[in-house]
Amino acid sequence: MFNLILFGPPGSGKGTQSEKLIEKFGWIHLSTGDLLRKEIANASQLGLEAKAFIDKGQLVPDEVVIGMIGSALDANPNAKGFLFDGFPRTEAQAEALDNLLAGKGSEISLVLALEVSEEELVARLLNRGLTSSRSDDRDENVIRKRLQEYHNKTAIVADYYAKFGKVAKIKGEGSIDDIFRLLVAKIEAKQPA
Ligand code: ADP
Repeated sequence: MFNLILFGPPGSGKGTQSEKLIEKFGWIHLSTGDLLRKEIANASQLGLEAKAFIDKGQLVPDEVVIGMIGSALDANPNAKGFLFDGFPRTEAQAEALDNLLAGKGSEISLVLALEVSEEELVARLLNRGLTSSRSDDRDENVIRKRLQEYHNKTAIVADYYAKFGKVAKIKGEGSIDDIFRLLVAKIEAKQPA
């Protein structure tokens, strides 16, 4: 099984590149942001609770997203691999993910970290807010709060995996296809196609 974490700040292109990667490699795409938005759309209890955090630009509590990922892993016992997008976002989530995968005799294979300048991130998110149905992209204060949460709680997740030599950094600015080719090259270097 190949388990990839696509890592990077909000607006770094994780969602866009994830779609292309799962199409090419046939993995299961697990985006905690998408899973939470589905819960909100269904007006579930979990969704209502999560929305209060998301609308303030804060992270949703660890146990909520860890529970969702645990269920999603169990629901796909025959997957050839998973692409984690927007998860793990804290060190506690990273440790929980390692434990969940170890319980299945597996582990994280590679972390690809997209690097994009702060200015470019804010511009991309505000631009996405013009057309997206996501309330958290429309307000510059919420965008700034998300970036702050990333720096305070999420950036260290890359250090956690770097200790195990699993992280490769990719410049996330340029054309979508060029960035995709860089990601694919790193994956194929680890897992011959
Ligand atoms: P982006 O990375 O563009 O901000 P996401 O769709 O990944 O967008 O996440 C949107 C929001 O959902 C986040 O700001 C956060 O509130 C919540 N969220 C998503 N994934 C997680 C996670 N792993 N842990 C905590 N909160 C999360």
